[in-house]
Amino acid sequence: MAHPMIHALLDRVTPASLYRNGTSFTELRALDELLHGLNRCDDAISLLESARDRLRRLLARRFDETTAQALTLKALNILLAKYQFRARHSHLAAHPVGLVVDPSNMCQLGCPGCVHSSSPGAAERFAWPNGTLPESRFRALMERYGPTAVAVYFCDYGEPLLNRNTPALARIAKSYRMQAMLSTSLSVRQIDAEALVDSGLDFMVLSIDGATQPVYERFRRGGRLDLVFENIRKLVAARNRMGRSTPILSWNFLAFQHNVHEIPEALRVARRLGVDQFRVVEPFDVSWDDPGIQPARVKPRVVHLTWAPRRIFRASQGAASYPLDAERIGSAYETPWERPPEQESIARSSHACHWLYKNLVMDATGRVMPCCAAPTPSNHLVFTEFGGASGDPFNSPKHWQARALFAGNADRKPDAAERTGASIPCSNCEWDQTKVNIGAREIERYFRQTDPMIFDARARRLLSQW
Ligand code: SF4
Repeated sequence: MAHPMIHALLDRVTPASLYRNGTSFTELRALDELLHGLNRCDDAISLLESARDRLRRLLARRFDETTAQALTLKALNILLAKYQFRARHSHLAAHPVGLVVDPSNMCQLGCPGCVHSSSPGAAERFAWPNGTLPESRFRALMERYGPTAVAVYFCDYGEPLLNRNTPALARIAKSYRMQAMLSTSLSVRQIDAEALVDSGLDFMVLSIDGATQPVYERFRRGGRLDLVFENIRKLVAARNRMGRSTPILSWNFLAFQHNVHEIPEALRVARRLGVDQFRVVEPFDVSWDDPGIQPARVKPRVVHLTWAPRRIFRASQGAASYPLDAERIGSAYETPWERPPEQESIARSSHACHWLYKNLVMDATGRVMPCCAAPTPSNHLVFTEFGGASGDPFNSPKHWQARALFAGNADRKPDAAERTGASIPCSNCEWDQTKVNIGAREIERYFRQTDPMIFDARARRLLSQW
């Protein structure tokens, strides 16, 4: 048998024409086209349910039974979400494609613009309680959405490594064949590098905006660069010692006027420490919080520091090699979709917020928000609470209202909130409504890293571009 690295490379370079019978594209395209012609959600669900076994059998030529079931559920859920997005439905049968979850609401830094900003008066600007995510709540969330979601991103506004149980949370996500990613400052006194590597975590974004302490701490207030570098060394050493290919370490450098001159030195340090990639990123403007911090005019870019074949091998291995929860995936596979009330397709709406159809955000205290915009005392962005009990937080009444707002259904009767004059969630939004944390790029990457032959470029485009 070929070495796994060679196998991963062959998968990557073999042209689609050589495996046309083995790709999922034909089946997925046929379903997508049929969905286009359907007006009733009930019919859409029946169509996808009738295709379930056919798609699973096709995938089972390449994967074990549980993986084939999990991938079938995820691909069909995406088709349904895409259908309901196009129809501007308010009540969803589709589940979120991705989850954004805070393992901890706390953070030890006080960066400007954040809910944790150490600027005077900042604490009153946002409605952000402290809290640590109990494993039981995350398990309950995963039982509901894990079989159909492709990825979880551990971090909204908290520092995920302040929760010592974060590796266990990542392991739960992996058991549903999801990608698990997190974002951290790494300026944390104690990390368990081996547990993080062993958890199956796929990707770590390391937020480090400087190469020297005085420059770094202008934005990362309270951060310690020596601690950050020490923690990178621990992670790289643990990965090497354990013979693991993941997590992929990605240094994220927010380019401001005060730190832009340190990019070349930061890149050298990243290379020396064994980081896999270095990203220069355009930051949000936070000068409203700290006028001394101004974005720099630089071109965003990614520098890959790992040899390309090793990089491809790492990514494909990370996607594949963790034990799955066969019982829960099998039971989700056998469970019919919940059918929402029949609703009108709204063809006249040209825009809708992608967050409302693709991602669900939950903080460590169980508050469910529609997106990564920070809740303030007045903006009503906490849509519901997820206590682990029954109920579908992706179908909270506020989610319905917000989706209806974008559907542009001017003829609909005013709902209770509008009659009483309460503000409709999302009505004053200035957030980016098209770029979600787990969207086109992440869906494409998930299926590419799963198997770039059976999910060829055309199949991946169909699943991710909407
Ligand atoms: S409309 Fe704005 S506030 Fe509402 S979910 Fe979308 S991005 Fe968030």
